[in-house]
Amino acid sequence: MGPTRRARSSASSTSWGWSERMILVFAERSDDELFAQALTLARGLGDEVHAVGVDDPTGYSPDGWATALTHAIRERAPSAVVAPGTDRGNEVLAHVAAQLDLPLAANCISVTPGDPLTLTRVRWGGSLLEEALLHGSPALLSVAPHAVGADTTGAEPELIAPAHGDVRVAETVPALAAGVSLSDADVVVSGGRGVGSAEGFAVIEELAALLGAAVGCSRAVTSAGWRPHTDQVGQTGTKISPSLYIACGISGATQHMAGCKGAKKLLAINPDREASIFASADYAVIGDLHEVVPAISAEIRKTRGG
Ligand code: FAD
Repeated sequence: MGPTRRARSSASSTSWGWSERMILVFAERSDDELFAQALTLARGLGDEVHAVGVDDPTGYSPDGWATALTHAIRERAPSAVVAPGTDRGNEVLAHVAAQLDLPLAANCISVTPGDPLTLTRVRWGGSLLEEALLHGSPALLSVAPHAVGADTTGAEPELIAPAHGDVRVAETVPALAAGVSLSDADVVVSGGRGVGSAEGFAVIEELAALLGAAVGCSRAVTSAGWRPHTDQVGQTGTKISPSLYIACGISGATQHMAGCKGAKKLLAINPDREASIFASADYAVIGDLHEVVPAISAEIRKTRGG
């Protein structure tokens, strides 16, 4: 895929109430960086910022949480509601938008106050930056994760009781601990959009296991939901300095290279000989990672007699 593109769009709705200054932030969690990033965007919209959070964060219910938030919005009449652009933040705001019959702008990276609001948001897994006008009040906005700075002054959310929702979490299964830490690994094998899918990472994981390496990825991958943000290498991910960095299906955007420029050697695998990553690579393989990576794994096995 080529460089980030830009598009324009507009969404509108009738007003049902308006308060000029107060901005309401929805805290999915009050102790994390994404809440602090939502505060940053909110404080750019108005001087008076209030935060609310649900008083039962373990019992997630998208429609139940949204009903509680809608109630808080009706009571306080904010000019905008800002949530972190997490799965839950976006899902709860989508329910709120449906309940209030308002448009929602998800995954914003900048918003300029006004009527209508002018905003830029991330679309299509990070490959498109869309400039949009958002009509309607209150404005419903979520903030793209790790795209704006975190506000360090914080805010104490007022807790609101969730309503009874039709959908509830039945069971929570903890993630398996990763074998090798990304920031400390001596070898990192990373995949980008060129991997094609979450399942496509099987070949990356196989090579990483053979090399005792950590698995990394680009932001296109985390934006698509193929890997968690903890695997992201780059300006808004982990900065790494392994002896060897193997970048598969990654174009070499400056924000990605900011995270791996400490690598002592870089091997890039990409069919596009014009890809900018080759300008920084020590070793280049012009080819399809789905052929090249399994071939490297097979060769390692053969050399080891396995
Ligand atoms: P693309 O740019 O789409 O490149 C995919 C590559 O895969 C292409 O070169 C293509 O030729 C190749 N390909 C396709 N098929 C195959 C195949 N079969 N085999 C091998 N190769 C193939 N990005 C980060 O990575 N980390 C960050 O921390 C980060 N922070 C950002 C912060 C901000 C504020 C912004 C605006 C952007 C940030 N980005 C970050 C995003 C960055 O600009 C790029 O959009 C992103 O790095 C692109 O990821 P990619 O290389 O996987 O995808």
